[in-house]
Amino acid sequence: MALIVQKYGGTSVGSIERIRNVAERVAKFKALGHQVVVVVSAMAGETNRLIELAKQIQKEPDPRELDVLLSTGEQVTIALLAMALKDLGLKAKSYTGGQVRILTDDAHTKARILSIDEDNIRRDLASGHVVVVAGFQGVDAAGNITTLGRGGSDTTGVALAAALKADECQIYTDVDGVYTTDPRIVPEARRLKTITFEEMLEMASLGSKVLQIRSVEFAGKYKVRLRVLSSFEDEGEGTLITFEEDTMERPLISGIAFNREEAKLTVLGVPDRPGIAAHILGPIAEANIDVDMIVQNVGHDGTTDFSFTVHRNEFKKAMAVLEKVKDEIGARAVIGDDKIAKVSLVGVGMRTHAGIASKMFKALSDENINIQMISTSEIKISVVVDDKYMELAVRALHQAFELDKEGVAA
Ligand code: ASP
Ligand code: MG
Repeated sequence: MALIVQKYGGTSVGSIERIRNVAERVAKFKALGHQVVVVVSAMAGETNRLIELAKQIQKEPDPRELDVLLSTGEQVTIALLAMALKDLGLKAKSYTGGQVRILTDDAHTKARILSIDEDNIRRDLASGHVVVVAGFQGVDAAGNITTLGRGGSDTTGVALAAALKADECQIYTDVDGVYTTDPRIVPEARRLKTITFEEMLEMASLGSKVLQIRSVEFAGKYKVRLRVLSSFEDEGEGTLITFEEDTMERPLISGIAFNREEAKLTVLGVPDRPGIAAHILGPIAEANIDVDMIVQNVGHDGTTDFSFTVHRNEFKKAMAVLEKVKDEIGARAVIGDDKIAKVSLVGVGMRTHAGIASKMFKALSDENINIQMISTSEIKISVVVDDKYMELAVRALHQAFELDKEGVAA
């Protein structure tokens, strides 16, 4: 007998019929003798619909009230799923985040979980209930309803699995696992049987939207056994997120992530003196703009060029900030480009293997793709390229590293 936490996303509970299907799947696990806690999202599209309603009243909706509103989406699905489970003859009980007492900080719309009171859940499980918990929501110390940020039900699932020391946390979604890259771009993309937690973290932060990044961080911290599966297929083992020490041999490269949501800014002719990077990025940080990649060239003639990327939504704001900074520091000009894409190779195998970067750059140059920026970490190499070559770059790299074939080991 195992304790399993299953999380179902919005499409998996998008209609009454689908909610019934979820109930049937849960019933199968119960029939095998497992204890099951189910975390659900709101029905597909519901959270967006509620945000739209709020925006018709306030352009920037009040965060506390927005949380009260958005939490209703998940309150609907927990009740419906509990009913569907009872209809199958199972004992079931629904809980909102506040009823469990998923305690969070008070950062409305992006709250962080501080603690989870698992007593009620344990008692219900012991008496044979399926426990259905609303994802994405909690309560702060003062009793206000909070939400965990878009996609936050994944984090609820993982956090509950950690608190309950569950044997496995299964994330059911509309894809059947984590792929080497997006199959819509590369039809030969392959489902990975396993991926390490660190690789998954990179993939999530680089734009692969299978899991909310915070849920992956949580799983890493608390060593939760996490699996991504399709809710529309009965068979299939999905992708298991493992810990590196559990696996002897890792493939060289696990996947290719890409991100079209960035823009590049360059300050030209920056006087090359101490403090200049801080002088440029300080005002950007003060404007609450997150910076991703940063490149500063080697100076010559007493000046240098300084480039960095930001989220595309913040491009105009960042340009305006830099225009001011430019005059203050006596730089020559500011230029920007929001038609860029970031393409990244991810794999723990590169830690122990030289030559990955040159192979990557060669594959791109063979396709005549110009690399505008490069950044690396121990298990990732990212390049910025022209937006219009992004798909070509992803395909070229997928082929160069033979990701369509299983187990090219490091
Ligand atoms: N319903 C929330 C959202 O759409 C949370 C989730 O689905 O994970 O972002
Ligand atoms: Mg989701």
